[in-house]
Amino acid sequence: MTQLQGIAASSGIAIAKVYRLEAPDLTYNKTKIDQPAEEISRLHEALEISKIELEKIKDHTKKTLGDEHAEIFSAHLLVLSDPELINPIEDKIKSDDVNAEAALDETANMFIDMFKNMDNEYMKERAADIQDVTKRVMAHLLQVTFPDPALINEEVVIVADDLTPSDTAQLNKQYVKGFTTDIGGRTSHSAIMARSLEIPAVVGTKNVTSQAENDTMIIVDGIDGDIILNPSADEIETYKQKHIDYEQKKQEWAKLKDESTITSEGEHVELAANIGTPEDVDGVLSHGGEGVGLYRTEFLYMGKNQLPTEEEQYDAYSSVLKQMGNKPVVVRTLDIGGDKELDYLELPKEMNPFLGYRAIRLCLERDDIFRVQLRALLRASVHGNLKIMFPMIATLEEFRQAKTILDEERDKLVQEGQDVSGQIEVGMMVEIPATAVIARQFAKEVDFFSIGTNDLIQYTMAADRMNERVSYLYQPYNPAILNLVNNVIESAHAEGKWAGMCGEMAGDEIAIPLLLSLGLDEFSMSATSILPARTQIKSLSKQELASYKDEILSMGTSEEVVAFIKEKAKLV
Ligand code: PEP
Ligand code: MG
Repeated sequence: MTQLQGIAASSGIAIAKVYRLEAPDLTYNKTKIDQPAEEISRLHEALEISKIELEKIKDHTKKTLGDEHAEIFSAHLLVLSDPELINPIEDKIKSDDVNAEAALDETANMFIDMFKNMDNEYMKERAADIQDVTKRVMAHLLQVTFPDPALINEEVVIVADDLTPSDTAQLNKQYVKGFTTDIGGRTSHSAIMARSLEIPAVVGTKNVTSQAENDTMIIVDGIDGDIILNPSADEIETYKQKHIDYEQKKQEWAKLKDESTITSEGEHVELAANIGTPEDVDGVLSHGGEGVGLYRTEFLYMGKNQLPTEEEQYDAYSSVLKQMGNKPVVVRTLDIGGDKELDYLELPKEMNPFLGYRAIRLCLERDDIFRVQLRALLRASVHGNLKIMFPMIATLEEFRQAKTILDEERDKLVQEGQDVSGQIEVGMMVEIPATAVIARQFAKEVDFFSIGTNDLIQYTMAADRMNERVSYLYQPYNPAILNLVNNVIESAHAEGKWAGMCGEMAGDEIAIPLLLSLGLDEFSMSATSILPARTQIKSLSKQELASYKDEILSMGTSEEVVAFIKEKAKLV
């Protein structure tokens, strides 16, 4: 048995076999051949297997993420049957007497270079399609495994260096019992996705990939952040019991599903959920969410190779609003860049992407992209209780500029005779310390704040949220963070506005009493955290906690804060 410690990223226990998800080695030798017919038939076999796989992935994606996301696989399937690509590969095998691997690689590269250099978005996308598909066919020619999370058909735990958001989106919960990674933190996107899919996960283990072998047993303890490799029979029994205990706790929490969230003195606070796709709304409602506090719209733009159209966006936003009825839905405009890449936008590689060209910075420059999203949102607004917020605002000018663009699009729509709700609140995320410090000035112009602590902590502490080596500095309870959060809440209240939090801190059991003490109005978290949070809040007195506020804010260290609040909120 080997035990590793990582960061508990998604609660629950998983016990299954290791499935390593790693990029396959696709190097090949170019060889002279004397039986071209044999090579051509190898090529066709590889093409056929690839087609069958892509059909399966397409079906799976359709079910989990919807039709739009599945479209990319239709494009890939077309490439696999395109005589304009396949015939030249066959010709090359025959004319150059080379093996199928070399003919495939050289022909595909010729097309990729040609399409990439064209000044035409459509052709650039075709280059990306050919690149993706060629890798899969090559893996089959070389008979190496091409790991595909969507094709897994037995119970496994995925072990990877990291998982991209699209890898995570492809995970089939029926078979993928858990996952663990070398890198990442509690707020990295794979961790956030794991919570929304309710798959136990431990991230940031530093070295699980160098220790876990395919098909050996592994335990993922997403409650305490432990990984057990090659467990003994006794250990498996212990963790099975831990799993049963956790399931029982969940049943207790579920009793509060239809109740509102009230403190011990009967004061209401709002518990909302963070979502990434319209499909996540089911989970929000089944976990008793009182609203959507953060709809991360990036996923509409990911996992495909072109920008989503206004109609696609309108459908997605309307679907979320309709499903939520009159409950509030806060939609965040596009926050791409940083750790959230979009290959087809060809964003420049940056030394410090988290400090770079992303979110509102990109949207204000590429207002062609931004305006499409705003139009779709404004049109969808008639279907529910929409609130819009802008990510990564650093200055008042940025907020004003974004709001002006929103107003311009609203005017255009009205002139076109389209219905737009007159009640849309427009707010901003507070995730850059500069805005938290002068929240008083912002509060005069925004309708609400939503504090994005995932980023606010990394920028305040200068500790990359993805970097497990500095995770000891990533301190949600540091008095520096609490003072910033307090300033945001006080500033909002001074102007009669509300303040919420959509960073992961909002669902954390140590942070919840601290945030109640500071007077936070809305807590938005992974759907799975809502019921435990409601249970906890029921037993807490907001008035009592508020009386500790000054003492907490004047403390010097995170440790002091934690020790104090654990005692006061009876968390020990
Ligand atoms: C945040 O920064 O706290 C946040 C909610 O946004 P994201 O995690 O998507 O960066
Ligand atoms: Mg953020």
